[in-house]
Amino acid sequence: PRRGTAAPVPPARPGEAVADAAGTDPATPARPGEAFANVPDTDPATPEGRRWAREVVARDVAPAPGAVVAGAAADVDALVERARGAADAWASTDPSVRATALRAVARALEEARTDLVAVMVHEAGKTVAEADPEVSEAVDFARYYAERAQELADGHVPGARFRPRGVTVVTPPWNFPVAIPVGSVLAALAAGSPVLVKPAPATPLCARVAMAAVRAGLDAVGAPADVLTVVLCPEGDVGRRLVTHPAVARVLLTGSIETARAFASWREDLDVLAETSGKNALVITPSADVDLAVADLVRSAFGHAGQKCSAASLAILVGSAGTDERLRHQLADAVSSLRVGHGQDLGTVMGPVVEPAQGKLLRALTTLDPGEEWLVAPRQVDTAGRLWTPGVKHGVAPGSWFHRTECFGPVLGIMRARDLEEAIAWQNAVAFGLTGGLHSLDEAEIATWLERVEVGNAYVNRHTTGAVVRRQPFGGWKASVVGPGAKAGGPHYVAQLGDWSDAPDVP
Ligand code: GLU
Repeated sequence: PRRGTAAPVPPARPGEAVADAAGTDPATPARPGEAFANVPDTDPATPEGRRWAREVVARDVAPAPGAVVAGAAADVDALVERARGAADAWASTDPSVRATALRAVARALEEARTDLVAVMVHEAGKTVAEADPEVSEAVDFARYYAERAQELADGHVPGARFRPRGVTVVTPPWNFPVAIPVGSVLAALAAGSPVLVKPAPATPLCARVAMAAVRAGLDAVGAPADVLTVVLCPEGDVGRRLVTHPAVARVLLTGSIETARAFASWREDLDVLAETSGKNALVITPSADVDLAVADLVRSAFGHAGQKCSAASLAILVGSAGTDERLRHQLADAVSSLRVGHGQDLGTVMGPVVEPAQGKLLRALTTLDPGEEWLVAPRQVDTAGRLWTPGVKHGVAPGSWFHRTECFGPVLGIMRARDLEEAIAWQNAVAFGLTGGLHSLDEAEIATWLERVEVGNAYVNRHTTGAVVRRQPFGGWKASVVGPGAKAGGPHYVAQLGDWSDAPDVP
């Protein structure tokens, strides 16, 4: 459980009012300076949690209404025009009304928790254990961005005027098919921009169920219908029209670096904020607590079958940690023990990859480069190529293909560095800079690493995935980010979605 300060988990889902550790309810606005408490996940270890999980996997989720299908570029044009028509009214709504809408969204998401988890299990290949915290994250985004909208209402930058950027297109990924579209859409809505969201092609149902909750919150304050449009359209020319339409003021993308490059090549002056790929390493020094380091490494590398841009896909073992037999055996045993299957089977620890393995991932799963050997060899266990047992290769050489390439799946590579200096140099010798981890109980090592590691999210003695809203705002450096890069779930994310006059620079 990631929420150290949270109150005990409520006995049953869904729909109960959740009191959090600060004694507040999701419905109640926080007062200035008051603690922000994240909502708790469901505890699968309780009998109620188990019962609920069985209900989740048995549930049949029907498509939520309210998405529009755009089959041609002309359909997209009409939708963008309608969003533009709603822009002024939404921009001039008092931000405190937008904050109220977001708090209503938080309640609707919490009420939809069972459906949201069910649809993630069925459509996105998630386990219940991976999907449930994603709903918590979406609720946190709604409540946290409601507070940021309230700050705009309170004029928290004295003397400054804020103007939302205008019609915003959101293109979310399939790996966090609820939390990321919800977070991006709500941030833009909180800022006062109308939004068109195009669900990832692999997970349209997840987006539709999530956006039905967003719609409910907007309806609660009587927002114009066209401030939110869920657009189902083919990739190709129609999708491209949505991103490049001249009336679209900004695009919020979470996806691969290749997609970010494609967007930029389509329209020269495209205003895009993107969070893209990562090639993330977890460094383990001889001072580390081995039990903790191995558990965090396995979780970071193989949660959601490694399909997180935050996943650790390299372990860099420093000095004698590289020859530590106990560490090596513990890692091999832990990885070999991960039970692979579909999320509908509640015994599954690691689920499938969303698309049959191909390209870089297939190469990583099936090929060893010079010097590499399998510590744990991956195995394909279905005919479709979606279910793989996890793989660990050691002997990954600095500068090699695996050292520098994001593969987005269940493969971990091990490198052995002479000392911490060398480990940090290798960790930084990649184009990306998203997450990084260090396991060390030595204060000097920790200080050196924090000073020099080139990542947006640096985690010490913790797994590298599962950033928590407000506590670990999420975002990258280097090629992992396009645009000003204020982090999602952090204090400046909403404020960067508009323009300020007579104000100090906003990060
Ligand atoms: N925010 C997620 C995490 O901290 C990663 C998001 C992504 O993979 O796009 O694990």
